[in-house]
Amino acid sequence: MNKSLIVQKYGGTSVGTLERIELVADQIVKTRKTGVDIVVVVSAMGGETDKLLKMARSLAKNPTRREIDLLLSSGERISAALLTIALQARGIPALSMTGRQIGLQTDSTHTRARIMNIDAQRARKMLKENHVIVVAGFQGINPEGDVTTLGRGGSDTSAVALAVALGARQCEICTDVDGVYTTDPRMVPEARKLDVVSYDEMLEMASLGANVLQIRCVEFAHKYKMPLIVKSSFKEGYKGTLICEEDPNMEQPVVSGIMCDKNQAKITLKEVPDQPGIAANIFEPLAKAAISVDMIIQNVSEQGHTDMSFTLQREELDEAMVIMNKVAKKIHATQVSADAKIVKISIVGAGMRSHSGVAAQIFKTLSANKVNILMISTSEIKVSCIIEQKHSKLAANALHTAFKLADKPAKKKNKKKNQ
Ligand code: ADP
Ligand code: ASP
Ligand code: MG
Repeated sequence: MNKSLIVQKYGGTSVGTLERIELVADQIVKTRKTGVDIVVVVSAMGGETDKLLKMARSLAKNPTRREIDLLLSSGERISAALLTIALQARGIPALSMTGRQIGLQTDSTHTRARIMNIDAQRARKMLKENHVIVVAGFQGINPEGDVTTLGRGGSDTSAVALAVALGARQCEICTDVDGVYTTDPRMVPEARKLDVVSYDEMLEMASLGANVLQIRCVEFAHKYKMPLIVKSSFKEGYKGTLICEEDPNMEQPVVSGIMCDKNQAKITLKEVPDQPGIAANIFEPLAKAAISVDMIIQNVSEQGHTDMSFTLQREELDEAMVIMNKVAKKIHATQVSADAKIVKISIVGAGMRSHSGVAAQIFKTLSANKVNILMISTSEIKVSCIIEQKHSKLAANALHTAFKLADKPAKKKNKKKNQ
């Protein structure tokens, strides 16, 4: 391990304007003065990735993923170069690097590639020469030599992967909130910052819509036991949230957080013949296209026919609808419809394993607020409901209050103190 090395990632809002890039540069100068080596990973300037995607989609309904990757990777290159210029203007020996230059090798799955390896030789040499390395996040290179990207929010994963490859002491995710909260603080003003969260719990939170960290970044950090810190890019004197291995002294409330996943959509096939093989006919082509399906509901059969609904990621809706229209013809479904105005609200907590009544309280709270539940799914430590998007803020606030999440749970006694 290189105890003097930290990897810091700055998100889109933090490098969203030239003024902010200057502030990040000042921050890095200060941190460097404390005697640490720094590798910085940057996202594209806020809104840039969406702007580029919109441009591509204005030219073609389903642009090829390979070209999307090349296009989107340019956003991170711009912020990496600009930040490096700002650092050099402050007398810091800094160098920017693209995914290819930093040696980040991925598989060939365009737009959601997985990291296979990082050839960190050059980065190590540059660190020895006392450089600050500024890496364009979210991107790598596949075995064919083409540019790939790591999925939305992928700079988080670039940062953790680099921290692991370089043996950094910790990876800091610097963003526009000062840590991980019981729920999105932009939706629920009462949300409470958590000091420490276990990898497992963070993984659950990220996969249910707490987009403060990309899921793969948490998986990676967990696998290699890389301490992960989420903190504000600019607010000083705040400790942020530490994500680390579970400690018996950690808070273990019945409900630890409420996640709202806005990136959801629902497809319904009407009057599908209710016979063996139909579900396979519907879901196999989606799996082949690497489209993941989340919840599935099949209605009670009436006269040999049934309606089938399922949810998926909103950005995959158009592609899935093209496939479903073909499937519907094949299996003689009478109609296919899409609904992109839904969200998935989830209540998470390891303590649910040993407590009953959580689901009942969720349903009671939502019904008291006249929020209709469209779909429900449960697991050992979470309950998720699909609701209409227009109700998301109301539902999140009501549930946060109902489960008293603004109050800090009492600490367990006789255990060593957390950091
Ligand atoms: P960045 O551009 O820095 O990567 P993101 O927008 O990806 O930032 O992530 C930060 C945002 O995540 C916050 O602005 C906040 O609205 C949202 N968020 C959602 N859930 C949570 C949560 N539980 N705790 C903190 N932030 C959350
Ligand atoms: N720029 C990419 C996105 O907006 C990656 C990232 O910010 O991490 O998703
Ligand atoms: Mg992010």
